[in-house]
Amino acid sequence: MERPRYKRILLKISGEVLTGEKGYGIDPEVILKIAQEIKEVVGLGVEMAIVIGGGNIFRGMAASSKGMDRASADYMGMLATVLNGLALQDALEKIGVFTRVQTAIEMREVAEPYIRRKAIRHLEKGRVVIFAAGTGNPFFTTDTTASLRAMEIGAEVILKATKVDGIYESDPLINAKAKKFDELTYFDVLKKQLKVMDATAISLCMDHRIPTIVFNLKKKGNIKRTVLGEKVGTKVR
Ligand code: UDP
Repeated sequence: MERPRYKRILLKISGEVLTGEKGYGIDPEVILKIAQEIKEVVGLGVEMAIVIGGGNIFRGMAASSKGMDRASADYMGMLATVLNGLALQDALEKIGVFTRVQTAIEMREVAEPYIRRKAIRHLEKGRVVIFAAGTGNPFFTTDTTASLRAMEIGAEVILKATKVDGIYESDPLINAKAKKFDELTYFDVLKKQLKVMDATAISLCMDHRIPTIVFNLKKKGNIKRTVLGEKVGTKVR
């Protein structure tokens, strides 16, 4: 019998892992694969909440650098995360995983509003809760949302799913010789200015002592391996 190391986790999925090879938008095949991996982990009895990003569709900062008002652009970015959240919910429910989407910006016709106690209740009932629309505030990121929600629901760890194997000293997609770290402290990440999460997300995790494991979602079985306590990716504590 496989024994998970954690009872409740928060999985952060950045938008870019949903694109497949296209580099933009949502690839239903990729989403289905992710959903299947989530199903396996939920099957172990682990309670899972997910914070979904939106960078595959819209990034506020990129749009504002081209002249758009930053706050308006950020609201568009938050709406992009709702599109991803609904796509993930659809894929999960198709394979029999009960799911609720909660949004930080109210849109009752498509999803529940974010209510902390209700989210916890869903988790206790074995439902996967997808948090969409970020924090509901411009000038933040979905990484910060992940730190915030992880603390609110009492998750033991944040699993940050990316396209690379962990945290490297420099971008491994540019520098093939870049060294990968197995373990780091949040302070190291700040000091070395490693581009993993923004400083707001890091300081929240650091202050509240919640670890983050950064790992590659493209490698099959990685979410489960991480949950079972195998050494995967880079652990930041
Ligand atoms: N965003 C925001 N407030 C939040 C979370 C997200 O304004 O609390 C906006 C921001 O514009 C961001 C976009 O939503 O660029 C998409 O989120 P993010 O870039 O974090 O997604 P990811 O990189 O994980 O795909």
